[in-house]
Amino acid sequence: MAADRLDTQVVVVGAGPVGLMLAGELRLGGLDVVVLEKRHVHTDESRASTLHARTMEILDSRGLLIHFGTPPNETRGHFGGIPLDLTLPSPYPGQWKVPQTRTEAVLEEWALSLGADIRCGHELRALTQSRVGAGEGQYVQAEAAGRDGIVQVRGQYLVACDGEDSTVRRLIGADFPGHDARRELLRADVEGIGVPDRRFNRLPQGLAVAARRNDGVTRVMVHEFGSSARPRAEEAQFDEIATIWKRVTGEDISGGKPLWVNSFGDANRQLVSYRHGRILFAGDAAHRQMPIGGQALNLGLQDAFNLGWKLAATVAGRAGDGMLDTYHQERHAVGRRVLANIEAQARLLLGGREVEPVRTVLAELIAYTPVREHLAGMISGLDIRYDAGPGGHPLLGARLPHSVLLSGEGHLTTSQLLHPGRGILIDLSGGTGAPLRPYSGWSERVSLLAALPRAGSALDGTGCVLVRPDGHVAWAGPGTGTGTAGLRQALERWFGPPR
Ligand SMILES: Cc1cc2nc3c(=O)[nH]c(=O)nc-3n(C[C@H](O)[C@H](O)[C@H](O)COP(=O)(O)OP(=O)(O)OC[C@H]3O[C@@H](n4cnc5c(N)ncnc54)[C@H](O)[C@@H]3O)c2cc1C
Repeated sequence: MAADRLDTQVVVVGAGPVGLMLAGELRLGGLDVVVLEKRHVHTDESRASTLHARTMEILDSRGLLIHFGTPPNETRGHFGGIPLDLTLPSPYPGQWKVPQTRTEAVLEEWALSLGADIRCGHELRALTQSRVGAGEGQYVQAEAAGRDGIVQVRGQYLVACDGEDSTVRRLIGADFPGHDARRELLRADVEGIGVPDRRFNRLPQGLAVAARRNDGVTRVMVHEFGSSARPRAEEAQFDEIATIWKRVTGEDISGGKPLWVNSFGDANRQLVSYRHGRILFAGDAAHRQMPIGGQALNLGLQDAFNLGWKLAATVAGRAGDGMLDTYHQERHAVGRRVLANIEAQARLLLGGREVEPVRTVLAELIAYTPVREHLAGMISGLDIRYDAGPGGHPLLGARLPHSVLLSGEGHLTTSQLLHPGRGILIDLSGGTGAPLRPYSGWSERVSLLAALPRAGSALDGTGCVLVRPDGHVAWAGPGTGTGTAGLRQALERWFGPPR
């Protein structure tokens, strides 16, 4: 460490949920990480409240779900306000109601327990990146304004998790195409009002939502058809919401006590590239979207989960060429698809009479099982399949389905196997087949488990699977002896050259 400079391996900008998740993953991968966060205290803003099935699986695969207790669960979701049953095969089907403040608290405690250095009250102001191709000693240097003046933090990589108004994006002038908000929803958490619950209630004048919580506070959301998003220097005022609520529903809520007032528009933008040399982007810093159906937070957490182990392996010299670029390839494609479904939902939700025929047809289509499953797979994140390379096995690229395995240590779930954040090769013959010879060069980086799947489970009938630290299947085959074609290539691709 130089006198006026802090050196680390990765600098993360932003201790929101995405930055915290990433910090934990990087520590799990053995890296030193400094997180710069401009806030001095935690936010108590009522933001995202939904965790979807894939996010729950991810949290489970790091042993974190225990800290969430038993959150309320609903299988009923929606697509643009049209009811949609989200049930799909997963240990956590449907949506789980967890306030974002709770998710952040759990992730922060986890990242700190793993040794992340989180510095609150440090606002990123400037960035320098060493010249591309400068060889040894390449770095990114962040300049942050802290309590005691300017702090320089230098890392081999910097990840921008600094939210929708990302300073990093602005400082490097990253291309962020898309459109600003055209329409908006106004919302407020209000105490002391007695209005009936409304679930995406389309009235002649507009859309109204009201949901009374157990603590007596009602969340109201309203959009007046035909109105445009206003440029706002400050948050919407409760008077404005009460006036529009009255025009749309006829109800008077002006006597209520607003606890939190907020507006959000249908802006839709995505970075052209999630990687700019040694600077990477994750979460809202990489994509801006309307928080419909609770997808924004889930998308960001899954970005972090995809990036963490890849960046850790790259910095530690355990990764092959191009590993880090697969982060952009995989997550940009997922983001593009989610942003498209959010854009479609925004139109269905905020459009006036002109969208009614489309809504009618879609409601009919959703009654068909394959349509329902397609939409539920997209919203829950359960249908994500990455390009894992050649091979025709149905599990290739998909998440490892939840199963119970019988190993020499007793019964284990597939989620438990992922707790250490390492790759794992599972010999599903229980170790009775010939040895998995290609594996020997990777034994330091990839765990090997001999186990038997439970009869009838999703892994029954598969001989052997190679699983990435993020739970996606990198290779699957008959296993043992001659049935290992492609395993060596998969090991090399995801875990670097053999030792
Ligand atoms: C007001 C509001 C309401 C929302 N409501 C919902 C909802 O109802 N449903 C839903 O699904 N999603 C909602 N979202 C979206 C959801 O909260 C985000 O998708 C989620 O927080 C993204 O996480 P993130 O970590 O990427 O960014 P953020 O949570 O925004 O975290 C970014 C962090 O970076 C810090 N930071 C920013 N600039 C700097 C800097 N220069 N230096 C250091 N630190 C910096 C910030 O202080 C912040 O802590 C809402 C978002 C907002 C802002």
